[in-house]
Amino acid sequence: MNKSYHIVTYGCQMNVHESEKLAGILRANGYSEECPTAEEADIVVFNTCCIRENAENHAMGNIGALKKVKRARPQMLIAVGGCMTQQPDAAQRLRKKFPFVDIVFGTHNLDEFGALLARKAAQKKAVVAIPEKEGAICEEDYSYRTSYPNAWVNIMYGCNNFCSYCIVPYVRGRERSRDPESIVREVHDLLDKGYREITLLGQNVNSYSADLGGGMSFPQLLYRICEGQGKFRLRFMTSNPKDFGEELIEAIAELPQVCKLIHLPVQAGSDRILKLMNRRYTAREYLEKLEALRKRVPGCKVTTDIMVGFPTETEEDFEQTLALVRRADFASAFTFVYSRRSGTKAAEMEGQIPEEVQKERIMRLVELVNEKTREKSRAYLGKTTEILVEDFDKKRGLYLGRDEYGRMGYFQSDKDRIGEFVRLKITDASGISLYGEPDGREEHK
Ligand code: SF4
Repeated sequence: MNKSYHIVTYGCQMNVHESEKLAGILRANGYSEECPTAEEADIVVFNTCCIRENAENHAMGNIGALKKVKRARPQMLIAVGGCMTQQPDAAQRLRKKFPFVDIVFGTHNLDEFGALLARKAAQKKAVVAIPEKEGAICEEDYSYRTSYPNAWVNIMYGCNNFCSYCIVPYVRGRERSRDPESIVREVHDLLDKGYREITLLGQNVNSYSADLGGGMSFPQLLYRICEGQGKFRLRFMTSNPKDFGEELIEAIAELPQVCKLIHLPVQAGSDRILKLMNRRYTAREYLEKLEALRKRVPGCKVTTDIMVGFPTETEEDFEQTLALVRRADFASAFTFVYSRRSGTKAAEMEGQIPEEVQKERIMRLVELVNEKTREKSRAYLGKTTEILVEDFDKKRGLYLGRDEYGRMGYFQSDKDRIGEFVRLKITDASGISLYGEPDGREEHK
């Protein structure tokens, strides 16, 4: 009999891709069907995140909600893994709160999830396996991908930067880079299978290969991936501004496959706050990098992450963030309220900002960012942009896809266009979405 699985994913793109890996392992272990709801699945896996408190609370709430289901169907398995369980003592706390959980695993042993399933099948009691140290990298691609025509490829794991607010280096360990030839093989294999957009993932892709003693730098890796390849899109995230340099700018300019949309998280516009965050660049240095990028790659757009309400942030510091947003002319920005993560340096800092001040500041920031985004949408009106068709929106009865700059475009079509590049003449731009008509010119499969 076919067994079914349901995976609940929290957090970033890295986790979304890791859930694809978990799906690959589950399928290789007899769970051959994806179940749309947790309540009816034979196994439910929670792939958690602890970067912000609300993601953690959300996961805890959802795990707790399965208590009744587990009582009614004790044969159902529940597994919890990811960043949340990798925190010190988190597995013990989780088991105490939710004794019905069957498997607890961490970020360092995701590749071994199949062995943990086997262990659970052989024993009645729960399997709790949280390795303290990161293990060897698995170069094999066993993911079960459901995101055609887009695919994510890890190029490295972990982080060495220790930004003072961030829990990642504690739960994902130090930087470890994958073998460049394995990455190139994996990307080329995906392109051969028809994938059209590849996103390379790492916490700080700019330091790729530093732990391998140099060798192929990140820009060189981009050249190797694009060598001899035809039309496709190549993206990467995340790039730490402190390491964003000329060699990478040159690769972005020279390689037509590399999207001219770069995600460069600035976090704050005040040098005092950036220093406290341990970001190791100033607002001026950040803006100079943007200028160098735009000079060498005209039309290149930049998106960013911005955090408000970091400990000790004054009204003046916040005003400097608003000023930077006005100057930097971001294509869009992901905005967050600082979330206190125990175990990080910032959690111990004096001067935590009251919630109402954080809320008031984020609202002002969001207003500014949205106004900029609407302005940019209006600029699309009447113009043509090429989208890679990703999906069909049943509710709207429209196909949808993104352009090189990440803008979502919708259009009508009688035939399936998923996986095609379609040029859209934009007739309506509302909020962040674009609507248009195919202009009937060059379209590629
Ligand atoms: S670069 Fe900073 S924010 Fe990004 S994962 Fe590393 S420590 Fe966290």
